Amino acid sequence: MFKKVLIANRGEIALRIINACRELGIKTVAVYSEADKNSLHVKFADECICIGPAHSYKSYLHIPSIIAAAEITGADAIHPGYGFLAENAQFAEVCKSCGITFIGPEPNHIRLMGDKSVARQTVMKRNVPIVPGSKGGVSDIKRMKELAAEIGYPVILKASAGGGGKGMRVAWSEEELQCQFETAKNEAFSAFGNDEIYLEKYIVNPRHIEIQLVADKFGNVVHLGERECSIQRNHQKIIEEAPSAALNDELRKSMGQAAKKVASTIGYSSVGTVEFLLDNENNFYFMEMNTRIQVEHTVTEGITDIDLVKLQIEIASGEQLLLKQKDIKITGHAIECRINAEDSKTFMPSPGKIEAFHTPGGPGIRIDTAAYAGYTVPPYYDSMIAKVIAHGRDRKEAIARMKRALEMFLLEGIKTNIPLHLRILEDEFFVKGQLNTHFMEEFFKRHAVFSTE
Ligand code: ADP
Repeated sequence: MFKKVLIANRGEIALRIINACRELGIKTVAVYSEADKNSLHVKFADECICIGPAHSYKSYLHIPSIIAAAEITGADAIHPGYGFLAENAQFAEVCKSCGITFIGPEPNHIRLMGDKSVARQTVMKRNVPIVPGSKGGVSDIKRMKELAAEIGYPVILKASAGGGGKGMRVAWSEEELQCQFETAKNEAFSAFGNDEIYLEKYIVNPRHIEIQLVADKFGNVVHLGERECSIQRNHQKIIEEAPSAALNDELRKSMGQAAKKVASTIGYSSVGTVEFLLDNENNFYFMEMNTRIQVEHTVTEGITDIDLVKLQIEIASGEQLLLKQKDIKITGHAIECRINAEDSKTFMPSPGKIEAFHTPGGPGIRIDTAAYAGYTVPPYYDSMIAKVIAHGRDRKEAIARMKRALEMFLLEGIKTNIPLHLRILEDEFFVKGQLNTHFMEEFFKRHAVFSTE
């Protein structure tokens, strides 16, 4: 097992990793930017080291500084968390060449799954269903039109290098395709430095369902069930839950098997998530694989009672996965609300000093946060400041617990999206579990006060 892990991240996930390391008896090193010197991850790590100015490309994304910090402190492994360098194959390679273990998959797996059109080809060969679409990137509009006509409208244009919902454009007709093509290419180029675009059938009103995987270096792969992540705004998840109301045991089994096939096809090892779209007729389609721990891993931990970050570290250190598929038991229901420092109505970020801070507790409530009273939320990073996770015997109890927790979450000095969460939790469609990826658009129509469109 590792002796010392450097955490190349900040905020709640850095703390989450510190928790796991402490339980495993591993020392930790926090790296921080000048804007984060008063952060909790700095306080709770065994050692800390400043790696540069506030802007992330000069600190949390600056590979030489992070590697230097690991070498100076003698860390034998680096945990990248999510975001920043978590899916940067080059970073994983640099770690390897410096004799430091990257706590995640092999660099070639990050690269393979990071190119979405290559990932599609790879999984298709193993008969994992993918959304009908082009074989790879398409560079001319004539070919794009032919393909769209074959597949049938509506279609969606996607950036091969895409992520975070950027570079995606829907076209309902050939005329729309014509103008969206250039827009998508330009957007992809400016976001990812790569303008390759591919085409997919646009699935109308799907659910976003993802399967959590754990795979070791010896070919053992298990899945830990699904997460329902259909509640999104601008393709950013807001609320996640597990299990999904849309899945029965049979569908769970076949989606789980498909996800496992993705991992075993490439010899993947680490935690990972396979994302699917599920249509109204229960057809599911591979969308992409995320080769890191995800924000919403907490709901899976809630219903399986398995510590995913500890498992991820153990696997990276070469331990064998002792869990078998039959050992995975799903108990109750878990929901996560992402609490952002932003205006609930306008979605404008709301950085600043937190004057009062009281987190709720009680049965079934877990709070993952790095915020505290007196902490100043810096304007430079993601606005998520806390995750509230409610677990209950069933969905109804989980919702009730989440509601009372959010009502008793005292956070003064900055604005948060807690009021938005509370409205969603009372929305009739949410309560009935009638969700799809357009839920928020419809919600804004039903609740005009929150509408910004
Ligand atoms: P990113 O990696 O940029 O987040 P994804 O491929 O994961 O992009 O897609 C993000 C979201 O976009 C999905 O959750 C879904 O809501 C929507 N989406 C993506 N592909 C399709 C499709 N073929 N049909 C319908 N919706 C889609």
